[in-house]
Amino acid sequence: MSVQEDILAEIKAFDTIIIHRHKRPDPDALGSQVGLAELLRASFPGKKVYQVGGPSEGLEYLADMQTIDDTTYHNALVIVTDTANAPRISDDRFNLGAKLIKIDHHPNDEPYGDLMWVKDQASSCSEIIADFWEMFQEELHMTKEAARLLYAGIVGDTGRFMYPASSSHTLRIAADLIDFGFDYAGLNRQIEQISGNVARLSGYVYQNLQMDKTGAARVTFSTEMLDEFGVSDAQTSGVVPLPGAIEGVLAWAIFVQQKEGYYRVRMRSKGPAINEIAKRYHGGGHALASGANVADLEQAQKLYEELQKACLDFTKDK
Ligand code: AMP
Repeated sequence: MSVQEDILAEIKAFDTIIIHRHKRPDPDALGSQVGLAELLRASFPGKKVYQVGGPSEGLEYLADMQTIDDTTYHNALVIVTDTANAPRISDDRFNLGAKLIKIDHHPNDEPYGDLMWVKDQASSCSEIIADFWEMFQEELHMTKEAARLLYAGIVGDTGRFMYPASSSHTLRIAADLIDFGFDYAGLNRQIEQISGNVARLSGYVYQNLQMDKTGAARVTFSTEMLDEFGVSDAQTSGVVPLPGAIEGVLAWAIFVQQKEGYYRVRMRSKGPAINEIAKRYHGGGHALASGANVADLEQAQKLYEELQKACLDFTKDK
């Protein structure tokens, strides 16, 4: 049996299914999690299916989470979507179930669970869930809402089909989802929408981005600055892609200071792989989109020097 068949068999075997995703959710985390939940609710109306993991943090237009007791995990199947490693799973009760399944599209550096379906070439975890539906269409029933959620996840992680991780298959599956009739143009707008405060912070990014000849670029936000702009840590996602539009920028890092003092680093690239750098600084992710953490500005400088070197090496090899 394939892992997909094994997963379907487990889903059929359990009456209660609880679906988790990663902390600090993005559209793909919520899209894959709740898209799967909706798919299972429509396909197996007799089962209890829950989506958990705390607030949707600005993405309430996609889905809300449910609150459940520890006792609900008794004899439950737990599925975690879009989460590379166990410490990043939102709500650490994921271990309380009878069985655990990982479905993900990040490099499988830190495996967990009794069953794993990991496809790191997939554009998004939502694409994998849509594949799951297409594989078992006779048993799994797609709905307009599930299609909306999965489409949002694909659009979110591909930057609307701009990044190389999106393939012709990604576009075909997105087209299949659109056929379910949700307002995809309106959804694209919702995903793209930023607040006036984030727009002002975007101005700051363009004016203060430090770029150098290597193709590396960086900008740093202190907690005071973010308070002044009225922008939360989660809302910084709205400015992360911006440097990529600038000519000559190859890879960039956005350092976002946290209340505890350390900096969360949001890294992106148009060429050099950056996830090995991220791994050296308490992080990880995809080759072209990673996250890390540094204790202070001195460590931030070290990380940035590694980014510069990655850009130089990449250009040299061309
Ligand atoms: P972000 O900048 O937070 O949007 O993260 C970009 C990518 O890096 C996502 O695919 C995350 O899964 C991954 N990532 C972010 N932070 C971490 C971390 N601390 N550990 C491992 N992967 C991370």
